[in-house]
Amino acid sequence: MQTTGKRSIHSLVLDEITDYLATQNERPYRAKQIVDWLYQRRVGGFNEMSDLPQALRERLAQEFAFGNFETVRVLGSQDTTRKFLFRLGDGNLIESVLIPASPSLYGSTSDRRTICVSTQVGCAYGCKFCASGLDGFSRNLDASEIVQQLLAVEKASGERIDNVVFMGMGEPLANFANVVRAIRIINAPWGLEIGARHITVSTSGLAPQIRKLADEPLQSRLAISLHGATDDVRDKIMPINRKYNLTTLLAACDYYASRKKQRIYFEYILIAGINDAEEQAHLLAHHARRLGARVNLIPYNTVEGLEWSRPSREKQERFLSILRGHQVVATLRREKGHDIDAACGQLRLQTKRSEDGVIIAAVS
Ligand code: SF4
Repeated sequence: MQTTGKRSIHSLVLDEITDYLATQNERPYRAKQIVDWLYQRRVGGFNEMSDLPQALRERLAQEFAFGNFETVRVLGSQDTTRKFLFRLGDGNLIESVLIPASPSLYGSTSDRRTICVSTQVGCAYGCKFCASGLDGFSRNLDASEIVQQLLAVEKASGERIDNVVFMGMGEPLANFANVVRAIRIINAPWGLEIGARHITVSTSGLAPQIRKLADEPLQSRLAISLHGATDDVRDKIMPINRKYNLTTLLAACDYYASRKKQRIYFEYILIAGINDAEEQAHLLAHHARRLGARVNLIPYNTVEGLEWSRPSREKQERFLSILRGHQVVATLRREKGHDIDAACGQLRLQTKRSEDGVIIAAVS
């Protein structure tokens, strides 16, 4: 969304730019020149596209917005997870997280740098472990606002991103069209050229949209925020489970796996006394084995205003060993962002509340 009411040039795919140029009686090769300026040379405006005729640059500027984010805060250092808080054109705040190489991350191998992008301002889904839902839902991001998170983080950090996870603020599959469009631009050879197997979309469990994604000609990966292996446990953590219960969700995962022939990930945040019982581990292993899913265990990260805590290290390891005992591929992640409020939505919430004049306590 741009405050000017113009469509952002970063939300268009190459064919759409070509079609627009045809309406202007411009040659098709100009489209490739334009995307080169956007995604290879990363210019800051149409006036820098020096091999385009001046008249065309002016027409493009009249027709399209060229969004730029304001970087409000950066937390973290070169060797750690870094969190970026951006202000959008309409004043809304969003977060992106840059995560250093980690073999346990989705699609990541030893030296890949991962960005976790936001897809909405706020979130309507209210998962109980997450700060993004605490302030409600404002609006969807458009494709350009998703793509520009990569451009802005690369510019601010000086580092090249080669792995993308859609796990920041918002439910990606509730913003389906913009997310799919952003993936196309991120994946395209003329765009950001990040391989589809290094792009992972995470969902809280929107079963119909999982089926819709399965029918898209994309090879990106899918992660399910599961967090409970039975309905009674999942109901306590994920309100969406009351709409699409485990049976419905797992049936959608079956459909996705049958269409894509690729591994699904289950995310499972370990919360003391809520979902860390051994029985849950055995049932989780059963679901994962049936689907051939890989499990990422994530110790709970403290959220201001919530009383939950993470299980002891021994209990975490025991949960992991039960999964592995069932021959499930599983990892236990050390939460890299624990010190800098990297849990979804926390930095935005703190900044928004302090800008609103609300005094808040520091998050551990
Ligand atoms: S985990 Fe995702 S879907 Fe759930 S409330 Fe947070 S942002 Fe929304």
